[in-house]
Amino acid sequence: MEEITSAPSPSAVEQVLHCPLPQTRSTVMISRAGRRMGFSPHQIRELTAPSEVRVVRLSVPSPKRGVMIFWGVVALHNMACGPYKGGVRLASDVDLHETLELARLMTLKCAVTGVEFGGGKTGIRVEWPSIYEAHGRDYETERDREFELDVSLALMQRYAMRLRSLFKRHEYIPAPDMGSSPEHMAIVFNETLDPATVTGKPENVQGWLPGRREATGWGVSRAVMRVWREQHVEPRDCTFALQGFGNVGSWAAHFLAEEGARMVAAVDALGGVYNADGIDVEGLREHTLETGSVADFPGTVPIDPEEIYGVECDVFIPAAIAGCITERTVPQLGCKVIVEGANMPVAPSGIDALADRDILVVPDIIANSGGVVASMEEYSKSLSAEAIARETVLGMITDRIESAMDRAEELAEEQDISLVEAATEIAMRRVYDAMRVRRFI
Ligand code: NAD
Repeated sequence: MEEITSAPSPSAVEQVLHCPLPQTRSTVMISRAGRRMGFSPHQIRELTAPSEVRVVRLSVPSPKRGVMIFWGVVALHNMACGPYKGGVRLASDVDLHETLELARLMTLKCAVTGVEFGGGKTGIRVEWPSIYEAHGRDYETERDREFELDVSLALMQRYAMRLRSLFKRHEYIPAPDMGSSPEHMAIVFNETLDPATVTGKPENVQGWLPGRREATGWGVSRAVMRVWREQHVEPRDCTFALQGFGNVGSWAAHFLAEEGARMVAAVDALGGVYNADGIDVEGLREHTLETGSVADFPGTVPIDPEEIYGVECDVFIPAAIAGCITERTVPQLGCKVIVEGANMPVAPSGIDALADRDILVVPDIIANSGGVVASMEEYSKSLSAEAIARETVLGMITDRIESAMDRAEELAEEQDISLVEAATEIAMRRVYDAMRVRRFI
């Protein structure tokens, strides 16, 4: 694995942190692109480093337990092109470096799609088993969605109070991410009373946006459709397989099935299903809502979630976890194209392995940008008090994805580089120019 920069000594930010920044998908991509673009090691480091990272302790009153303590990270990566933008992740495994990586990815995503936001992210560690235990309950046998919602909304209330001034200044604009939902965003709005301080607000709350829920899946489906259009194939003759059947995966499947494409496999955290003749997407969506998993859907053969990589299909859509396409899984892949629905499904070790196999990858920063494009619209229209049509929002996402793909493909061809590399270069150029003109670098 290569170094972030060629300089042997730790960077200034690493000296302050007193630890090296780990090499990740985005640091490797930024480093390689920066060298191709003639940036100095110093410039590459400044594009990689965050502008601010806050580690926050959030104490949440609990009727039974006195107080619950949560720890989180607010990573503000870059605001040269616009306010820090990024979701609030509530999960048991978040840490500073993962949150920073996701914030960096937001900077690149907004820049490549021409959305006037920068990149930020929040990660708060929520360990449900110990929260249940502290309340005298067992996580495995007494799972209670109402209880989890009450705790997470109380946590959100505390978080919104704590970061209120950052939000009120429109400096950082949060949105839902893993573990949080529009209901949590309503809590932020209650605290700031400004609809432009938060996106992903629930239906009927001032400044909400029709189409926001399905925006990312819609965008992923448009990226797939574009690939098929360029390959001169009809969707009805094409197949796809999905890893993850949550918000992004199930909506992408819904829109692709509407175009006549055949879903041959879908897996989630609990199981998987396969049928070479095609799976009924709407039936599977209902089944998942009822049972909590794709597993055991009638008319399909069960598969292990790990078997998804080997499924023969035209397009594989990873829409679940980060870092799953690695040196180990690339040789198993049975697809011709990967459209990245999830953030960073290709790990650094998978980048070169994929190039060797000549598998086209449509990068996450374009393919899953539908959510942030919708957020841009929600933010800008928040104070208009005027309802906007869902079709307008979806049309806007299609246009952004198409034009970002146009530019990335043109550069990729011109320089004989991959689409992922081209998209990173376009994003970096835009961020660098904005930093330069604002005298940040
Ligand atoms: P979600 O929680 O709605 O769904 C996640 C799905 O992945 C579920 O079906 C879950 O069972 C499955 N899953 C989890 N672990 C798995 C594993 N080990 N193997 C197979 N499946 C597994 O989440 P989402 O909102 O659909 O987001 C999915 C991914 O897309 C995440 O990486 C997220 O960061 C990214 N993303 C989401 C949005 C958005 O608007 N929701 C926008 C951009 C990127």
